[in-house]
Amino acid sequence: MVVCYQISEIQKYLSQLHSENHSVGFVPTMGAIHDGHLKLLSEARRDNDSVISSIFVNPIQFNNSEDYDNYPRDIDKDLALMKEAQCDAVFIPSVDEMYPQESVVEMNFGPLERGLEGDHRPGHFNGVGIVLSKLFNILRPDKAYFGQKDLQQAAIISKISEDLFFGIEIKIVSTMREDDGLAFSSRNQRLDKEQRKDAVRFYFALKSAQKSLLQKQSIEEVTKEVTNYINERDDMDLDYFAVVDSQTLKPIKEIDIPNNISLCIAGYVGDIRLLDNIYLNED
Ligand code: AMP
Repeated sequence: MVVCYQISEIQKYLSQLHSENHSVGFVPTMGAIHDGHLKLLSEARRDNDSVISSIFVNPIQFNNSEDYDNYPRDIDKDLALMKEAQCDAVFIPSVDEMYPQESVVEMNFGPLERGLEGDHRPGHFNGVGIVLSKLFNILRPDKAYFGQKDLQQAAIISKISEDLFFGIEIKIVSTMREDDGLAFSSRNQRLDKEQRKDAVRFYFALKSAQKSLLQKQSIEEVTKEVTNYINERDDMDLDYFAVVDSQTLKPIKEIDIPNNISLCIAGYVGDIRLLDNIYLNED
């Protein structure tokens, strides 16, 4: 597995692949690799001649500097896992090379960033949009892989790629979960034993909401139940529970047909922020 720290190095490596007409699948990450990332890598491996990944903790998508500083980092372990997943090359750029000067570009995703994470993390999707535009332009992959776990991010990236003619096929991969249902997340590493026990409540809340909504309970009532269930734990705090259209992410007022609807949740366990979502009609 090739590891490149500079833009020129990875571009040299890629120009060889492009000249041989290799199809390239790209899996961007912020590191602290877990089974969710590995699933993205295995789908990329299945679909493409070559697989490249990146590790870059993108400072401009954090709206809280403590969260950025505390973000788990373990490059050696990450590289070992990526190698095992048969990744061909990993790009690990420096902040200085990615941001030689402060970006004057600002990205606004209109209705797609209203609600959900957009409301709770101002500037977050501007940071995500800028870093992915840079990575897409540097690497020019054929396909790029993203997790459904970050539903709003996946919707926004699909839109950037389409609207700005990046010509990259965006693949969305279903969420990988621990045995009890907690979605894998790099931030899970920071949970202590008690917090880990509580964290799965986000998933339990989604599953219980799904059941109630399918039994025709109102969204308003279900939202109250979810809020109480999360907030009854002293160290937990709900940011939002939302029932949205899976494509437009607009809130749903009433459920007629349970297709194309997502249930989204986000909040804190201690100072660790987690998020999750499921489709209303999934098993
Ligand atoms: P991150 O390193 O957190 O930026 O995540 C990198 C990619 O992995 C993003 O596309 C995430 O949506 C995806 N991802 C994160 N957690 C999971 C998971 N549990 N299952 C599947 N994909 C995930």
